Amino acid sequence: MIHSHVFLSWQFNLPTDTGVFTTRQVLQGNEPVREVYHERDGDWQFLCGTTFNTEDLKLVCLGCMVEVDPTIGELADMPPGWCGTRQARGEAWIQKPYDEGENETS
Ligand SMILES: [Zn+2]
Repeated sequence: MIHSHVFLSWQFNLPTDTGVFTTRQVLQGNEPVREVYHERDGDWQFLCGTTFNTEDLKLVCLGCMVEVDPTIGELADMPPGWCGTRQARGEAWIQKPYDEGENETS
């Protein structure tokens, strides 16, 4: 994670070295990013939607994520509590609020 990124245009209102979550399949180029979650606590997740195995969940920097798929920059303005989905790379993102159990008990 000790590296830097330089982008000609950077859409996110976050540093390029912000830690974000993605999946092994996305990093290996086997699957596109299909589900993007901007969590209410500010975390971002860029998931392929094909795995729910925690071993496949990887922490990477946001700059690396944009290099893997620059189209996620289209979601840079998406507010916390929202998710963006699409079926395939190249399709338009569909953004909507997601429900993560507002009555959860701890
Ligand atoms: Zn990076």
